[in-house]
Amino acid sequence: MSNLNIDSVKQRSFDAIVIGSGISGGWAAKELTEGGLNTLVLERGRDVKHGVDYPTANKYPWEFEHRGEIPYNIKKVNPILMRANAFSEGTAHFFVKDEEHPYVQEKDFDWIRGYQVGGRSLLWARQTQRWSEYDFEGPERDGFAVDWPIRYKDIAPWYSHVEKFAGIAGNKDGLKELPDGDFLPGFPLNAVEDYFAKQLKEKYPGRYVISGRCAHLSEPGTIHYQQGRGRCLSRTACNRGCPLGGYYSSNSSTLPWAERTGRMTLRPFSVVHSIIYDESKGKATGVRVIDSESKEMIEFYARIIFVNAGSLNSNLILLNSTSDRFPNGLGNDNGLLGKYIAFHNYSANISAEFEGYKEYTTDGRRPTGGYVPRFRNVFKQETDFLRGYACGFSAHRSSVSDTNTFGEPLKQQLLNPKLGVWRVGSHMMGETIPKKENEVKLDPNRKDDWGVPLLRIAVEYDDNDEKMRNDYLEQFEEMFHAAGFVNIRPRKTVMAPGLDIHEMGGVRMGKDPKTSLLNAWNQLHHCKNVFVSDGACMTSTSTQNPSLTYMALTARAANFAVEELKKQNL
Ligand SMILES: Cc1cc2nc3c(=O)[nH]c(=O)nc-3n(C[C@H](O)[C@H](O)[C@H](O)COP(=O)(O)OP(=O)(O)OC[C@H]3O[C@@H](n4cnc5c(N)ncnc54)[C@H](O)[C@@H]3O)c2cc1C
Repeated sequence: MSNLNIDSVKQRSFDAIVIGSGISGGWAAKELTEGGLNTLVLERGRDVKHGVDYPTANKYPWEFEHRGEIPYNIKKVNPILMRANAFSEGTAHFFVKDEEHPYVQEKDFDWIRGYQVGGRSLLWARQTQRWSEYDFEGPERDGFAVDWPIRYKDIAPWYSHVEKFAGIAGNKDGLKELPDGDFLPGFPLNAVEDYFAKQLKEKYPGRYVISGRCAHLSEPGTIHYQQGRGRCLSRTACNRGCPLGGYYSSNSSTLPWAERTGRMTLRPFSVVHSIIYDESKGKATGVRVIDSESKEMIEFYARIIFVNAGSLNSNLILLNSTSDRFPNGLGNDNGLLGKYIAFHNYSANISAEFEGYKEYTTDGRRPTGGYVPRFRNVFKQETDFLRGYACGFSAHRSSVSDTNTFGEPLKQQLLNPKLGVWRVGSHMMGETIPKKENEVKLDPNRKDDWGVPLLRIAVEYDDNDEKMRNDYLEQFEEMFHAAGFVNIRPRKTVMAPGLDIHEMGGVRMGKDPKTSLLNAWNQLHHCKNVFVSDGACMTSTSTQNPSLTYMALTARAANFAVEELKKQNL
């Protein structure tokens, strides 16, 4: 090999490669660089610098060309994206448009993505509830999927590690089914939310309304100021990007922290095509990248690889990483790669009105709302469906104007709205059961603009989901009645899987290489220097919003990887 080639290979060689710079990739980058590893972070999208690349963050409503609405011509070509309620004129630049990155829906599936540095950490709703021991025991106790190779006690210290750094606001609620964490002060419930919480306590022991724990700096500490972040001012314009760093995103927190170690190289516009496996070494040696602008294929090398491309894209990369040893995808000896995909069942909601509490005129601006932890089948099986659901709950004081008029009277009505009644609402967040037939695979014929096969998605609801949503609606209708709410409107929604934006599985963790892909440390059973620690690794889904668990699993796996490298085990 010529000196020129040797130099070039050297420049493309790192201790670690992280694929994806979203919520989980940001954590991998932070932990690996802090552990002393020169780390290359590969991101398929453009760079988004904290505070600099948030073009709409400080805009007033009247400064938007369409007053925040998505114009018809954009709506027309983005039917999937239009169903994501966070998609607006203020946030559109952080979402993948339907036509830009097609996929094949064998069954209806709304795949909501953000391809840029920071991934969907810029867009998320920042709800961060821990799992409990009952969640990790779930599959074994109820006999579905496979047993998790870890328990709550294994991940608890890593939840704390992540919570302290990211900054999670929440109260110590003392619930076994939703363990407390290392919290900053929680945001309060408003008067009517608090009223409903008291009603439940009195009439439905074991059911609670708590303040949703969220990744916001209600009271920043030294570690947050060191990240350059400041207090959350409840502007509630979060998913336009927060210049204050009031909420956790990779852009405001983990990525700049990793950069400061001097050991991170971030390469945007780098579409990872596949992982390179060297049979003679029995491990992965690097990745193939397509430069998204020049379309050139470049190889990068490393001793360990973290796959954090966002659940389904991590499945895609592994399925596309074929070799003589792994003809069906990296680590896929048992043929289960891409199978047992699961999600959260958000297919029902309920609203009502409350005629009391008229003396309370404001509903309070906060970055979170009320949260009802799962109360069905937690400690023992008690219904005809498996597992259960958590729920959002919030109350707002509405204002009304009579708009059935014209001219000056209309102007006066709009300028002087009257306070209406309180409105309350809830939505379900149900656990779904991972099933073999819910799967993703590569399309044998169609490729994207970068030569990567399109993903085919075949995921759907089942009877368990239907029974669960009926139960949610029955229970909430009854509880709303008991609380004295009126005009109760239960609703089943026609929402395809995916729109919950909590897609998980396909590369599940487990004890047995015959029935799972990853071990207890998120290593591929059959290729130990490749770690998958985003949602693809999830064995079951529980009901809690999942990203806090991805962060904790990633931090845990990355620290393990650093130690294993030191011991020369990888
Ligand atoms: C509107 C909205 C609200 C949400 N609310 C919540 C919530 O309240 N709580 C919660 O827990 N979760 C929430 N989520 C989900 C949450 O955003 C995701 O679970 C989380 O971002 C997943 O982290 P990740 O690192 O796996 O993937 P992402 O954050 O999606 O990051 C993946 C990154 O990998 C990159 N990538 C993909 N493929 C490749 C490739 N081939 N090569 C290189 N790079 C690649 C992508 O561009 C992206 O930057 C919400 C999501 C949205 C959109």
